[in-house]
Amino acid sequence: MTSNAKKQSAHIFDTLIIGAGISGIAAAIKLNKAGYHNFKIIEKASRVGGTWRENTYPGCGCDVPSALYSYSFAPSAKWSHLFAKQPEILSYLEDVSKKFDVEPLIEFNNELLKAVWDEAQHLWVLDTTLGQYLSRTVIFATGPITEAQIPKIDGLDTFTGEMFHSARWNHDYDLAGKRIAVIGTGASAIQFVPRIQPLAKELYVFQRTAPWVLPKPDMNLGKTGKSVMENMPIIQQSWRKSVATSLNIINFGLRNPKFLKPVNEVGKQLLKLQVKDATLLKDVTPNFLVGCKRILFANDYYPALQQDNTHLIPHGLVKVEGNTVIAANGERHEVDVIIWGTGFEVSHPPIGRKVTNEKGVVLADLWKDTSPEAYLGTSLENTPNAFLVLGPNVLVYDSFIGLAEAQLDFIIDGLLKIKEQGISKLAVKSDVIKKHNDLVQKHIKTTVFNSGGCKSYYLDQNGRNFAAWPWSLKKLKQRLTALNLDDYHVSYIASK
Ligand SMILES: Cc1cc2nc3c(=O)[nH]c(=O)nc-3n(C[C@H](O)[C@H](O)[C@H](O)COP(=O)(O)OP(=O)(O)OC[C@H]3O[C@@H](n4cnc5c(N)ncnc54)[C@H](O)[C@@H]3O)c2cc1C
Repeated sequence: MTSNAKKQSAHIFDTLIIGAGISGIAAAIKLNKAGYHNFKIIEKASRVGGTWRENTYPGCGCDVPSALYSYSFAPSAKWSHLFAKQPEILSYLEDVSKKFDVEPLIEFNNELLKAVWDEAQHLWVLDTTLGQYLSRTVIFATGPITEAQIPKIDGLDTFTGEMFHSARWNHDYDLAGKRIAVIGTGASAIQFVPRIQPLAKELYVFQRTAPWVLPKPDMNLGKTGKSVMENMPIIQQSWRKSVATSLNIINFGLRNPKFLKPVNEVGKQLLKLQVKDATLLKDVTPNFLVGCKRILFANDYYPALQQDNTHLIPHGLVKVEGNTVIAANGERHEVDVIIWGTGFEVSHPPIGRKVTNEKGVVLADLWKDTSPEAYLGTSLENTPNAFLVLGPNVLVYDSFIGLAEAQLDFIIDGLLKIKEQGISKLAVKSDVIKKHNDLVQKHIKTTVFNSGGCKSYYLDQNGRNFAAWPWSLKKLKQRLTALNLDDYHVSYIASK
């Protein structure tokens, strides 16, 4: 079939996985291992990797040590540093998909356009750029952090220079000798600012809120380190365990903010050691409790801000006039390029625009005035036989890979039950979702995300925390060990 040919599938899949990022690849590997083979992956891009294929900005890398930011079933001895950079993570994901024979299961360059639940047949009907598919179930592994966000700025259409978002880096544009405005000081910006600072003629960093940036305990593993990892897997396992233990301690603090106050003080002392200028120190000192927004780690960010060509503007960008960028305090600078480090739209998963539930409602319309609610981050109300990976309220300060794996264990347990018991429709009960989310919202109030004095991306437009799990990772994993059919309405159509 040519890549543009449309097809109509007579075949009915047991499941279709949408997306071949970390979650989709893991889903396929785990399904194969469970002896479940009637499935396919639909991926809109031409390569695996998701986040790590899309984000190629200078300095892009993970902020969780690679021993943990890797699959539990596929440790790697190839990491060059304790915290891997994007090219290594992408190549790891490609290696894993080859090693576990996932690639032949992927239809690349195929985008899901519409998924509609057919109540008469108890099937999902999926329209994609390559045709139509029928499937008993769907796993939406379409990613939690994908939609680049560019704020609406007065006069932006008059800008005469170049501009791009960190997630769509323009590698053809030469930054050398340019006057650059970086908008935002979030996780991506603190990674690329130190890389572009030496190239810039002038670098203006617009900061609306000072983030907590703590020293990164990174290290080049070198030949010796890699050889130890390769020949002594026990060392790597211990490294993974010790990272997990450290993150558990951090998570305990995030749930019990009073324990974070001493960390706050240490953080401020560390800042004083790194930032010499009193005005800059005042401007980069966060005004909220550490952990309220995702903690960032870098050793080169504050040194970059203190270079002669670099100017921190402790205000947001409010207006653009031609090639002049204007901050909220009225400060004006002529620039050649604007780089948006403004993060992602996370409260409204883009997949919601493509999915029509059993009531005939497009999920994005349901989520218009709020953000999604799910049961254990995966099952959505009135949306049978569908599972979201890394959905609402499962975020724990840990590796997303571990979270995705835990959720997939739950999802696959459900898929196996559906298949073994001949279930044609599995729909989470409304009272189960409600009870679960009432409890989540009650317990989340005391976490640092809600009480730490910041407006983080964990909160939606109504101030409701749609992202965090308020308990421990251990409790999340316990809840995800098996899908309890009592929590779901179960139906059977004899012919299905
Ligand atoms: C810059 C950046 C840095 C990060 N760093 C860390 C970190 O250090 N530690 C951490 O734990 N997490 C980090 N994250 C979070 C990260 O998103 C997750 O760790 C992980 O990559 C999520 O994987 P995923 O497979 O669920 O989603 P993605 O990686 O987003 O993959 C989704 C896939 O679905 C495909 N897709 C989407 N829609 C469709 C459609 N309609 N049809 C077909 N295919 C579709 C996409 O093309 C993509 O390949 C980071 C995120 C970003 C953006």
